[in-house]
Amino acid sequence: MSKEIDEQPAAENPEELLDLKLDDQKEWAAGIPAVTAAMVDILHEAGFVRGMEGLFKMNKKGGFDCSGCAWPDPDDDRSPIAEYCENGAKALAEEATTKKLTAEFFAQNSVTDLAKLNDYEIGKKGRIAQPVYLPKGATHYQPISWDDAFKKIGDKLNGLASPNEAAFYTSGRTSNEASFMYQLFVREYGTNNLPDCSNMCHESTGVALADSIGIGKGTVTLNDFYDTEVIIIIGQNPGTNHPRMLTALQKAKEKGSKIIAINPLYEAGLMGFKNPQTVKGLLGITTHLADLYLQVKINGDMALLKAIEKLLYKAELENPGKVFDHEFIMNSTKGYVAFLNHLNQYDIDHLAQEAGVPLAQIEQAADMLKDKTRIIICWAMGVTQHKNGVDTVKEIVNLIILKGSIGKPGAGLCPVRGHSNVQGNRTMMIYDKPYPKQMDRLKEVFGFEPPRDHGYDVVESIQAMHEGKLKVFFAMGGNFLSATPDTTYTAEALRKLEMSVHVSTKLNRSHLVHGEEALILPTLSRSDKDVVNGEAQFISCENSMGVIQMSKGMLEPISKDMMSENQIVCRLAKATLGSRSVVDWDKYEKSYDAVRDVIAKVIPGFEGYNQKVRTPGGFYLPNAPRTGKFESEKHGSRILFNLAGLPKHEMAADEYRMTTIRSHDQFNTTIYGLDDRYRGIHNERRVIFMNEQDMQKAGFKSGEQVDLYNNFGGVERAAHLFVVVPYSIPQGCTATYYPEANVLIPIDSVAKQSNTPTSKLVFIKIKKHKAG
Ligand code: SF4
Repeated sequence: MSKEIDEQPAAENPEELLDLKLDDQKEWAAGIPAVTAAMVDILHEAGFVRGMEGLFKMNKKGGFDCSGCAWPDPDDDRSPIAEYCENGAKALAEEATTKKLTAEFFAQNSVTDLAKLNDYEIGKKGRIAQPVYLPKGATHYQPISWDDAFKKIGDKLNGLASPNEAAFYTSGRTSNEASFMYQLFVREYGTNNLPDCSNMCHESTGVALADSIGIGKGTVTLNDFYDTEVIIIIGQNPGTNHPRMLTALQKAKEKGSKIIAINPLYEAGLMGFKNPQTVKGLLGITTHLADLYLQVKINGDMALLKAIEKLLYKAELENPGKVFDHEFIMNSTKGYVAFLNHLNQYDIDHLAQEAGVPLAQIEQAADMLKDKTRIIICWAMGVTQHKNGVDTVKEIVNLIILKGSIGKPGAGLCPVRGHSNVQGNRTMMIYDKPYPKQMDRLKEVFGFEPPRDHGYDVVESIQAMHEGKLKVFFAMGGNFLSATPDTTYTAEALRKLEMSVHVSTKLNRSHLVHGEEALILPTLSRSDKDVVNGEAQFISCENSMGVIQMSKGMLEPISKDMMSENQIVCRLAKATLGSRSVVDWDKYEKSYDAVRDVIAKVIPGFEGYNQKVRTPGGFYLPNAPRTGKFESEKHGSRILFNLAGLPKHEMAADEYRMTTIRSHDQFNTTIYGLDDRYRGIHNERRVIFMNEQDMQKAGFKSGEQVDLYNNFGGVERAAHLFVVVPYSIPQGCTATYYPEANVLIPIDSVAKQSNTPTSKLVFIKIKKHKAG
């Protein structure tokens, strides 16, 4: 088997790429096509009755939380029709599917054969219906009882020379209850090796905001969107990645807000929205979203933000006291003068050039902001997954505090999280760098000494696997290999493990590139009914705006041989720790109320958890900056203006900037289909979006087959057979879908301070594909 086939879903020959159909790039998102696409998936996977039952309860009070992104539900009235988007419906279709993988499936399909399929084909196989085990040297997964599975994992963990030879990954789907018990088990076992998906997405946000405002989370609520004057959206594509945000943007526009979109690619969901829940939308009438679209170069955001700040400063000098909020600056910030001196070093034309945006457009942006005080800035991976991701988030904070746009209605910081409980996982102490105070509290409540040393994050875990320092990898959800950078390197690392274990709902590539021994433990999905000890249980999650809400599945699980994540953790803890544990795992396995009671004792803000979470709509966690109070460890009660320089890019003349993006038929590593209809792509994922002038210069035609190369650190990384597609993107910039292009993201190209892989910027060379 060729390495390329099992490590990434590569095309094997050029003919496979001939099905690609190109269509016009769209200028609006959703509308009837979104409804149709959602329904086709639901009916195909779950059938009418099961599908409709699920959709009706999704994101409703008393229903279950969508396992897609972390966009919040309305606090008050929710839609009587549908409180979900196309991608939420597709996420439900994936998990509510009636296709299941039984012992026969695994007997008939070897790991090698399954690994030849692409990620889309693997994902479409169905739900895993029982625990399976791949013994050392075996070719096929085979059934194993739950007891035997836990015993094998427990024996393996107990046989390690040190608990630090194991790592325990968490994906953003894991509930608060399961996350808390998971970190408790891992810490009682003796390690802080708790890599999580946050390490790969908003870690830069967490680091920057914790340092600046004292909390690693955003400060706005959904209602702030309806009371704001300007919304800036940077490096975020809501039409595909957080689609219900479009409803909030539409309402904000109706209330008079303006929108500034900052993104290298033109994205339909930033330009217009046809709301399928309104008569207007159904009639095909578009709400125009972005009033100003700044098509910044990849990683040109820092220069652009500085240019806007510089123009605002000029306006402030012309109209003293009218542009900047001096009262806020004086009472709640420090470093203002140093910041202005820093800003003065830059030439405005140079900043515009570095941003790749015409100065006249930047002036328009500054004009839109200068008289306004209620400003919200939203951002996502387009900002965080860069070498200077932490500094760019801090530059966003600089702009917000110049305007005093924080701690009051209609204003603030809005990092938008991409996975439903990724923020909650961290609140539940899934963190490789634990806070001493939290460890003290664990000790007080449970009576064991938790480890204090920092563990491995995602990148460090992969490197440790490679170096033979990690022997066991346990993944609570996710598709680690497809989510992580440097696919070939990461696959090599995973193969060096003695044991890999995945708690999963569906088959994915990470089950097929494994350690010497491997196990898959099938778990319930969000929409599945979760009955433990004869009682229907519910879980809870935290959305992007810090609301904790209950989630109660109601669909009949497709197999009786699956367990909830919380049960799996408790059973694993018993099998591993046995009588040396001081935790009553039986109690927590049987009652999620008991889990919430103990969370309430350990984590501030969760007092009365069981009672508050039963309130329809849930409850907000405390968020001091939202109320104008700031308290960071380093800077006390004042927000420090950050002085960061512009990024320096050393590129060869024939190199391009490349960013990885999702298609519209994709949620993180789950591929729903092969289209990306907003960008006009059908039937293919191995495409590279290029500026037409760049294509002409390089002699590429639309449809040209090319190979992509990255040479970071003197190592050649290649991704073969991509098709060139002309697209509206700045010159010198290109975009490709992940996970196909992850092979080009170097493991050691990471953001400073947050160690997040730089998946939004690597330098590549593009060469015509040569057969053979
Ligand atoms: S916006 Fe996000 S949370 Fe809401 S339904 Fe869509 S994918 Fe799910």
